[in-house]
Amino acid sequence: MKNNPRLDIYLDKIVHNTIRVVRQCTEKNIELVGVAKGCSADEKVVRAMIEGGIKIFGDSRIENIIHLRRAGIQTRMMLIRIPMQSEIRKMLKYADISLNSELLTIERISNIAQEMHLEHKIILMVDLGDLREGIMPDELIKTVKRINELPNVKLLGIGANFCCVSGIMPTENNLNQLVLLAKSVEDELKIPLKIISGGNTSVLKLIEENKIPHSINQLRIGVGILLGQDDTRLRNLEGMYQDAFILTAEIIELKVKPSVPTGIIGRDAFGQVPVFKDMGFRRRAILAVGKQDIHLSSLIPIKKEIKIIAASSDHLIVDITDLEEDMNVGSEIQFKLNYPALLAATTSKYVSKYYHQKEIKP
Ligand SMILES: *Cc1c(COP(=O)(O)O)cnc(C)c1O
Repeated sequence: MKNNPRLDIYLDKIVHNTIRVVRQCTEKNIELVGVAKGCSADEKVVRAMIEGGIKIFGDSRIENIIHLRRAGIQTRMMLIRIPMQSEIRKMLKYADISLNSELLTIERISNIAQEMHLEHKIILMVDLGDLREGIMPDELIKTVKRINELPNVKLLGIGANFCCVSGIMPTENNLNQLVLLAKSVEDELKIPLKIISGGNTSVLKLIEENKIPHSINQLRIGVGILLGQDDTRLRNLEGMYQDAFILTAEIIELKVKPSVPTGIIGRDAFGQVPVFKDMGFRRRAILAVGKQDIHLSSLIPIKKEIKIIAASSDHLIVDITDLEEDMNVGSEIQFKLNYPALLAATTSKYVSKYYHQKEIKP
C-alpha cells in the first residue's frame, strides 16, 4: 500500500509539456530557462525537463541548485532570486549565473569570485513596474558602467520580471522598453549585452500572439511547464497537461453532520472567523492532510461533486453528499493542484512522492 497523503508525479507529462514550451521558444530564438522551484527542484522532474529539451535551470533557492548538482545534473544553473550576501560563496561554487539588482552585492560577488579564482555571470534586473526586484530604469547606465569595471563578474545582459508581487502584466510595450534600455547600454557604453531575459510564464501569451519583441532572447518558465497553466490569466496552455501532479488524501472520518456548527463562533485555528451556510445535514469526510501540506484555495477535487469546506493544520474537511460512488473510512480522494498547492505539497515532508514514467529512459 502507498503512503498517504501522496503526490503522484507523471513524468511523461512533464516531458510533453517541456517539449511544447521549448518548441514555442525555439521558434522565436528564445532560450528557455527551466524553473523547477514550484516542485522544490525535484530531481526526477528536472531530469524529465532535460529529456524535454531544457539546457539551463533557474531556481530561487541555492539549496535546490546544490541538491541538483549533487544529484549529478550538469546543465548550467542560474540563481533567480537575487542573492543574499551570506550565500555568495555557495552561489559562486554551485551556480553559473545569477540575477542581481544591488551594486553592493555585485561588488561582493566580484571580491569573493576573485578570491575563489572564478568568473561569475550576471543578469541585471530592471524594474518595469511590478515592483519586486530590479534597479529603476534611470539607474541603468550608471550601474552597468560600474559592473563593467569589476573583475571576475561578467554582465551577460538585463532582465525583467512580471506578475510576481503587483500583478503587472508583460506587454509588447513594457518588453519593448526593456529592449530599448538594452540598446541604450550598447549605444552609450559600447558594451554588448548578450541576453535580454523577458520574464516568466506570463510572457508565453505574447509569443502565442506574435507580439514578443525580436530581441527578447530568454524566458524563465516554471508553472507553464509543471502545470501547463498561465496562472496569471487563469488559463490552461493549449495542448499541455494540467495533471502531471495529483495529490491523494485518505478519509479518516466519514459522518453525517449538520452544516452549521453549534455554539458560539469564535476564531478558527488560523485566526479567521468562519461563516456557514445552512444546507441541512451533509456527509462530511475528514482527510488526513492539512494546511501544513496544502494550500486550500488552490486544491481542485478531481470529482466535481466534492466540495472543500475547511482545513486546519492537519485536517481537510470535504462535503461528499453529492458524490454517487461509495466512500468509506480508508477511501482516497484525489486533487489537482494549482501553483501554491504544488509548492506546499512538494515542500512538506509529510507528503510521499510516487513517480510514474512511460517513455523516459533512465
Ligand atoms: C519564479 C520565477 C520565475 C518563473 O515563474 P513562473 O511563473 O513559474 O514561470 C521566473 N523568474 C523569476 C525571477 C522567478 O522568481
